[in-house]
Amino acid sequence: MSAKILDGKIMSAELKAQIAERTQKMKERGIVPGLAVILVGNDPASEIYVRNKQKGCEEVGFYSRTIHMDPDISQQELEDEIDRLNQDPRIHGILVQLPLPSHLDEQSALTRILPEKDVDGFHLINAGRLLSGLPGVTACTPKGALYMIKSTGLDLSGKEAVVIGRSNIVGKPMAMLLLQENCTVTMCHSRTQNLKEHTLNADILVVAVGKPGIITDDMVKPGAIVIDVGINRVDGKVCGDVDFDSVSRKAGWITPVPGGVGRMTIAMLLSNTADAAERAESHA
Ligand code: NAD
Repeated sequence: MSAKILDGKIMSAELKAQIAERTQKMKERGIVPGLAVILVGNDPASEIYVRNKQKGCEEVGFYSRTIHMDPDISQQELEDEIDRLNQDPRIHGILVQLPLPSHLDEQSALTRILPEKDVDGFHLINAGRLLSGLPGVTACTPKGALYMIKSTGLDLSGKEAVVIGRSNIVGKPMAMLLLQENCTVTMCHSRTQNLKEHTLNADILVVAVGKPGIITDDMVKPGAIVIDVGINRVDGKVCGDVDFDSVSRKAGWITPVPGGVGRMTIAMLLSNTADAAERAESHA
């Protein structure tokens, strides 16, 4: 058996084309969706992510602004910048690139962003709305992963879903989204005993750990949907957490890395920003 590839390049290109069309319509009404990204310090991986986000904005016709701040700025300086962007009518979405230098309080910075401009979906209000099943801004990576899962056309109701990783930005919101789809959700993490016992039950397996090769074919149920969120660099090459070569012979569907979930994360960020601009327009 050979898994079907859930191609993030193709899916994100389709989504971006739809967003570009929405943007064009907004521009005709005099609105240009605007995204501001705050980058603190010079982390090379963060710089690449920010550049990709800027490129995405250009592709769909958004206004984008990157605010590059010194690594030794104070919490107050960071939050003053967020306050300025909160007040700026040209900016509909604000994103603070993580991780921040260790002397800065991430949670406090994220919560400073107005919830309606929090296009990453990390604000406590948006996290709480997801938990409560209320409409809000959903975190981009799990939202993109769910889009890929739904693209299989399978009925998700009652399926066994296993999420590995319990971070606030991927694992936890992913589990909530799958729960909303009526999956039976199991969360695994670094203290889970006998991971394989859980993963072998999974009709849907989402892996968000950051350890290359942590999932091998002997851990996967035949025909499963395998979503690899991990981004790792091994010998200069980008790879995921799943051993793609062996698992793709056993799974029903699989996402590649690169060209998988990462592409969808950016597409969902753009989608959340377009939504924020339309919301601002309707409240104007
Ligand atoms: P994190 O470090 O915050 O969380 C990792 C999780 O893995 C933890 O919850 C931990 O309990 C779990 N874990 C660690 N070792 C384990 C083990 N042996 N068995 C089971 N669970 C284990 O990471 P994160 O921010 O959630 O990111 C996870 C991965 O996803 C990273 O590789 C990151 O680069 C990647 N990521 C990708 C995207 C994307 O757009 N594709 C977005 C965000 C994160």
